[in-house]
Amino acid sequence: MKLAILSRGPNCYSTQRLKEAAVSRGHSVRVLDTLRFSIDLRKGEPDLYYRSKHLSDYDAIVPRIGASITYFGTAVVRQFEQMDVFTTSASAGISNSRDKLRCLQILSRHQIGIPATTFVRERKDILPAIERVGGVPIVVKLLEGTQGVGVILAETVQSAEAIIQTLQSTKQNVLIQRFVSESRGRDIRAFVVGDRVVAAMRRTAQGQEFRSNVHRGAIAERVILDETYCETAVRCAQIMGLRVAGVDMLETKEGPQVMEVNSSPGLEGIENCTQLDIAGAIVDYVAAQVDFPEIDLRQR
Ligand code: ADP
Repeated sequence: MKLAILSRGPNCYSTQRLKEAAVSRGHSVRVLDTLRFSIDLRKGEPDLYYRSKHLSDYDAIVPRIGASITYFGTAVVRQFEQMDVFTTSASAGISNSRDKLRCLQILSRHQIGIPATTFVRERKDILPAIERVGGVPIVVKLLEGTQGVGVILAETVQSAEAIIQTLQSTKQNVLIQRFVSESRGRDIRAFVVGDRVVAAMRRTAQGQEFRSNVHRGAIAERVILDETYCETAVRCAQIMGLRVAGVDMLETKEGPQVMEVNSSPGLEGIENCTQLDIAGAIVDYVAAQVDFPEIDLRQR
């Protein structure tokens, strides 16, 4: 097949690994800089130019769209969709998963465990909202934070109010979420490709830290997930419109509680931790889909 990886970082680990995996399987592959496309619209003829030259035909794309270029990046992916090119993530899936509120709103109408979460604007609505999620301690989250930045544990009502008001006064939207204390400092990342979890790891924070982000020093270990966790992760990816996704879950007595779904999950941490060839699994899946396409992902 002829595959394009949409990425701004041709040398980053994930892009390199996907490229290597495609080459070693005899596919033709190119890394295309997402920001160098031009999107042409004319009656009945959606078209794309790359570096001002007409783009040749591709069978499939693997978009890796960073948060800073979501608008343009999803527009490029949408254009590929209009041209019937297979994509590992629907453009709507990328937009929907980018913002923690939007992601949880979509998941909340399905039978998927999520931590009780609320979104408020008015100062007088903060206290009742804290009570509705079960009282302090609570987690306050910026809608578009990553790597644990903007995820704050508030132990008292006073500090919760102060944190929320401070963030809101700087025009930041925040979520108020129940603190899932049973899984303090630990979470699960399930890596979904198509309709299965191809790898999973448990990340454990070190010391007093409650956030289990590897960027914050958490230690990752390979885990084999039971069926409930696998099923939840795969369903989340499918609901969001993502054929490749990193699903982050907290472990609780009632089963998995999903925190977020990532549309461009990194490969480095999970390949190193699990020693699995995840890039290969993605490329094999895409090749199989190009040969025998399934029904299209639902557009949201
Ligand atoms: P980011 O996208 O910035 O990584 P997350 O929502 O995944 O933000 O939160 C970062 C970390 O904080 C999680 O990996 C988890 O360890 C911890 N955490 C987040 N939400 C909760 C929660 N509701 N209860 C307990 N721990 C949480």
